[in-house]
Amino acid sequence: MSVLERLAVGALIAGAISLCGRLMRALTWSGVVAAVLVGTLSFAFGGIAVAAAIVIFFVAGSALARLRSGSADRARSIAAKGATRDAYQVIANGGIATLCAIAAGIASADARSAGPLIAAAICAVAAASGDTWSTEVGAFSQTAPRRVTDLRRVEAGTSGGVTLLGTIAAPVGGMLIGIAGLAARAVMPIGAWLGVTAAAGLAGSLIDSVLGATLQGQWRCPGCGRVQDARCHRGCEMPGTLVSGVAWLDNDGVNAAATAAGACLGYLSAMAMH
Ligand SMILES: [Zn+2]
Repeated sequence: MSVLERLAVGALIAGAISLCGRLMRALTWSGVVAAVLVGTLSFAFGGIAVAAAIVIFFVAGSALARLRSGSADRARSIAAKGATRDAYQVIANGGIATLCAIAAGIASADARSAGPLIAAAICAVAAASGDTWSTEVGAFSQTAPRRVTDLRRVEAGTSGGVTLLGTIAAPVGGMLIGIAGLAARAVMPIGAWLGVTAAAGLAGSLIDSVLGATLQGQWRCPGCGRVQDARCHRGCEMPGTLVSGVAWLDNDGVNAAATAAGACLGYLSAMAMH
C-alpha cells in the first residue's frame, strides 16, 4: 500500500472505532476528531502493531472506566475530568506514540532505525495503559491510597495517591499493550518484549503518581474547600486557588510526560537488544 492508501484505510478504521467510542460515551466530539487523527497517522506510519496497541488501550481503558462501584465513582468525582475523553486527553495519551510512529514511517527505509521507534511508540501506549489500569483498577481498592511521596493516606482519586491493587494492575495494563503490538517484537525476544512493556506500564503509573503528588497543579475550591486537579470544581463552578504544584501542569501534561518516559524506555531497550 502507498502512504495515501494507508492513510485512507487508517481513517476508515479509526473513524469507525471513534464513532463507536462516541456512542459508548467514551469520547467527546473533540475527542473523536483527535482519536481519528491519532489512529489514522499511527496506522499509516507505524503499521498494524502500533494501531493495534492504540485500539486495545482505548477499548480496555474505556471498558475498565465503565465498571462502576461506589468507591470508583467517589474517586472519579474529585478528578478533573470524567471517563469521557476529550481531545486534550486523547492527545496526552496518544500524541507521543503518534510522533514516534511518524518518525518510524520516515525512517522505514532503514529497518535498524525504524524498529526501535516502533518499540518506542508501543511502549508510550503501554505507559498510558499502565497509568489507566492503575487508576481504574486501584479505584476498587478497599484501603485508602497513600501519597507516593510521603506514604500518607489520601482521599481516593487524589492525584499522586497509589494503592497496592493499582500498582499491581499497572504492569498488567502495560503487558496487554505488548501483546497487542506483538507484531513489532522482532526488535527483541518475546520474553524481553513482554518485560519491557510491563516495565513501561509500571513506569507510566509511577511517573504519573510522582508528578501528580509534586509538580501538578492542585486547586482549592472556595465553595466547598475541596482540593482537586481542576481549576474549577464542577458542581460549585467557582474558580479555585492554587495550593500546590505549578499552574500550567495539569493531568494531561502529566500523562504526556508518562508516555514520553515509556517511549524512552522502549527505544533504549530496543537499541540495547538490537
Ligand atoms: Zn467545590
